[in-house]
Amino acid sequence: MVDLRRVDDHSKSGSVGFIDRRSFMQTGLRVGAAVALTAAAGATALKLHADDTVWQIDPGLCVSCGLCETECVLLPSAVKCVHSYGICGYCNLCFGYLQPNQTEQNTAVENQMCPTSAIKRTLVEGPYYEYRIDESLCVGCAKCVKGCTTFGNGAMHLQIRHDVCVNCNECTIARACPTRAFSRRDAATPYKIKAMGSGKEGT
Ligand code: SF4
Ligand code: SF4
Ligand code: SF4
Repeated sequence: MVDLRRVDDHSKSGSVGFIDRRSFMQTGLRVGAAVALTAAAGATALKLHADDTVWQIDPGLCVSCGLCETECVLLPSAVKCVHSYGICGYCNLCFGYLQPNQTEQNTAVENQMCPTSAIKRTLVEGPYYEYRIDESLCVGCAKCVKGCTTFGNGAMHLQIRHDVCVNCNECTIARACPTRAFSRRDAATPYKIKAMGSGKEGT
C-alpha cells in the first residue's frame, strides 16, 4: 500500500510567495516553479497502490466548457485551476485574472475573471505579477482558463486534485465532458501539468 497523500507545497497553494527581482530575472524562477508544479504527483485523499489508476484531465483537450464545476459528485468540485509558472508571462494585463472588456483597468472584484476571487496576484517588479490560485476557493469553473488560453499562454489549466477526488469508478464529469478530455492514468503520476517549452502537458 502506498500513501500518496504527500502534496507539494507549491502545487497545493499555487504560490511561491513574493519574488524579488534578482530571483525572478537571474535565478530562473519560472523554471523552478514549473518543476515544483510538476512535482505535484502523488497527492490523493485515498490510499492507493502505485499501480492503481486515477482520473485526470488532458489540458490540451479541455475547451473550458464549465462542466467541471457542475458535474462532479463533490461540491465544490474536485477539479481546480492549476497554474504553470513555467509558461506564465507574469503579465500585468492577465486575461485569466481580469475581465477583457473592463472600461477601467483595475483589480476591483467586479473586474476579476474569477467569481470567487480565488486568484491572488503579487507584484514582482515593474510590469511583472505572480498569480497564485487559492484552491480552497476555486470551484473549477474554468473562466480563468478560458481567458488565459484565449489571450495568453494557457498557463492556467484544470486538473483533478487527488487530495480531494474520491476516484469514482465512473467519473461523472468524464461522462459529460464534450471533448473526452478525461482518461485514467497511473496513480504514481496522477497529473498532466502543462510544461515549459512545449506548451503541452507534462507529468
Ligand atoms: S468538462 Fe471537459 S471541456 Fe469542460 S471544463 Fe471540464 S475538462 Fe474542460
Ligand atoms: S476562475 Fe474558476 S477555475 Fe479559475 S481560479 Fe476562479 S474558481 Fe477556479
Ligand atoms: S472521479 Fe468523482 S470526485 Fe473525482 S473528479 Fe470525477 S466525479 Fe469528481
